[in-house]
Amino acid sequence: MSRANAADAPVHPALAGAAPRPFWLDSPDAPAPAPPLAAATTADLAIVGAGFTGLWAAVQAKEADPARDIVVLEAEAAAFGASGRNGGFVEASLTHGILNGIARFQDELETLERMAAENLKGLVATLERHGIDARYEPTGAIAVATEPHQLPELEEAMAIERSHGADVEMLDAAAMRALVDSPTYLGGMWHRSGGGIADPARIAWGLRRVALELGVRFHDHTPVQALRDEGDRVVVECPGGRVRARRVLLATGGYPALLRPINRIIAPVYDYVIVTEPLSTEQLAAIRWHGRQGLADSGYRFHYYRLTADNRILFGGYEAMYYFGGGVGAHHDQNAQILGLLATHLFETFPQLEGLKITHTWGGVIDTCSRFCVTFGTTHGAKTAYAVGYTGLGVGATRFGARVALDLLDGADTERTRLRLVRARPLPFPPEPLRWPVITLTRRALGRADERGGRRGPWLRLLDGMGLGFDS
Ligand SMILES: Cc1cc2nc3c(=O)[nH]c(=O)nc-3n(C[C@H](O)[C@H](O)[C@H](O)COP(=O)(O)OP(=O)(O)OC[C@H]3O[C@@H](n4cnc5c(N)ncnc54)[C@H](O)[C@@H]3O)c2cc1C
Repeated sequence: MSRANAADAPVHPALAGAAPRPFWLDSPDAPAPAPPLAAATTADLAIVGAGFTGLWAAVQAKEADPARDIVVLEAEAAAFGASGRNGGFVEASLTHGILNGIARFQDELETLERMAAENLKGLVATLERHGIDARYEPTGAIAVATEPHQLPELEEAMAIERSHGADVEMLDAAAMRALVDSPTYLGGMWHRSGGGIADPARIAWGLRRVALELGVRFHDHTPVQALRDEGDRVVVECPGGRVRARRVLLATGGYPALLRPINRIIAPVYDYVIVTEPLSTEQLAAIRWHGRQGLADSGYRFHYYRLTADNRILFGGYEAMYYFGGGVGAHHDQNAQILGLLATHLFETFPQLEGLKITHTWGGVIDTCSRFCVTFGTTHGAKTAYAVGYTGLGVGATRFGARVALDLLDGADTERTRLRLVRARPLPFPPEPLRWPVITLTRRALGRADERGGRRGPWLRLLDGMGLGFDS
């Protein structure tokens, strides 16, 4: 089917009155922020950023060594960033899917897939062990075909997934529509062993609670302004004081980085999401969705969508935005054209739901890198490490990213730190003023490829040849 584009998307009437904030964070269960740092202090480990990466690092570091003195410095509040704004799809992959893993890390893919499965198991076990009610549902995920050319692509993907031990099933149009009823569906690939869905803010808040119980100190509304190497310490400068830390872990996602090497490899790309009011029993019956699987369509520009615990539909993705100069901030949290487009596509997908209201709209920044998966580095004589670049698939992988960053800070030689995934760096994006046109051209080329039955044009083929990719 041909889709409307952002440029010609009128503001959709279903958006009237929607709250311009993330649904997940709009909850009375949000923890009260911790007081900002107001005096100089010291720490064994200072963690910058209280998203999943920072929180998993705090919990795993304390569990490994309860005596370690840890402070978490967060510019806003826990889960303020991508961790509180995402779709809540919990997937195992550490390589942003098996196909990207094959393209970039074939030699160690078996190890990476094993570690991915262990990581997801460890994530779920942590939620259970600490009584974190993140509303995790192990539903698996379905990639749906909405264009004829996507069916053979899904067949091919299924064969590859199966050869790596995944429990995957191909569905024809009737079988797909028996599970979830959209007139746009031509078929689907159900990844039964593909993780599930959760409430991401509740994962983050739960981890924060556990970290606090383990003795981690938190300072919210504490933006770190600079880092300085000072012999056996790194000085972490904040408005209210400085932390002299033995080790520093940067877990700042797609936000402007404190180190130049991170800014070279990460492009902050905005992705937008809408959430509807809860569906009535009749509305739910009209679309089925009894298995509550996370869904995504299969174009280069794709939507991801799912039910929430109270039966709303979260619908996001498709048109990602990179703003000139890597702009990040509250002024980009809403994009009327893209949100209007998402509303239009939601009702194209489920015309049975016409009249349903949208209650929440937001945008979040994705730490896009050219290899689409987490990347690591150290500086200050390996006293500072970072784990960034999950490129839109980090709900599961952040636990692994945090673990690796801790290994690097400990100078540990582990199976993890020997991975090429950990040692190799992605190709950097060009600096501005080239970065914006290159990414914008690539986004448009992906849109054109979707319109041409998935055929990649010369620009995308050139990037493929260079091993440079763009995704969100
Ligand atoms: C719209 C959207 C949908 C997504 N959907 C999915 C999905 O369904 N499944 C999936 O697996 N992944 C998804 N992702 C990706 C996933 O959310 C991220 O990979 C993951 O949350 C990254 O966590 P993080 O802790 O590294 O970064 P973040 O959660 O962004 O945390 C970084 C934190 O650092 C803080 N910070 C930044 N700079 C400073 C500073 N100088 N001083 C102090 N604090 C600072 C920020 O305030 C922020 O809280 C999505 C992302 C977005 C934006």
